[in-house]
Amino acid sequence: ADPVVAIVGRPNVGKSTIINRIIGHREAVVEDKPGVTRDRVSYKAEWAGKDFTLVDTGGWEADAKGIDAQVAAQAEIAVAHADVVLLVVDAIVGISNTDEAIVRMLRRVKKPILLVANKVDAEHQEAEVHALWSLGMGEPFPVSGVHGRGLADLLDALLKVI
Ligand code: GDP
Ligand code: MG
Repeated sequence: ADPVVAIVGRPNVGKSTIINRIIGHREAVVEDKPGVTRDRVSYKAEWAGKDFTLVDTGGWEADAKGIDAQVAAQAEIAVAHADVVLLVVDAIVGISNTDEAIVRMLRRVKKPILLVANKVDAEHQEAEVHALWSLGMGEPFPVSGVHGRGLADLLDALLKVI
């Protein structure tokens, strides 16, 4: 079977936008309001002749349990079924409590994890990316899901671990 790549991250960081860019057409649901991707959804993808499956995540509903715990729990299920994890954060907004909740969950995961710094639409924003080293998830890959910037480097790195 093709390797499975789970895309995790808090609502609105751009997970579905990045998936649309990678698969080359609009299929993942992108919405300005957080929380629109209701379930885990799989997409066939390909880069440099290598096939893999991308799993979008994000369904959550705010209730007494708390959003951070719910997002982390959703992510945990997707990660359990994956070979590699792409952790997406919003490089411009910076690190939030929800990001940290996901990172705590990911620390227990013995699978390759790539840190994706999304919304770096222009070169001058790359300075924002340095702060993301503090997550302890290794080198941040600056990308723009909207413009496609940086995705080639990210996908090259992904192919080295699948
Ligand atoms: P998800 O909840 O993580 O799947 O996020 P979405 O893909 O639905 O995107 C949430 C919002 O962020 C939408 O308004 C997107 O257009 C916007 N967005 C996603 N990627 C980028 C990016 O690279 N740059 C900018 N400026 N906005 C982005
Ligand atoms: Mg989404």
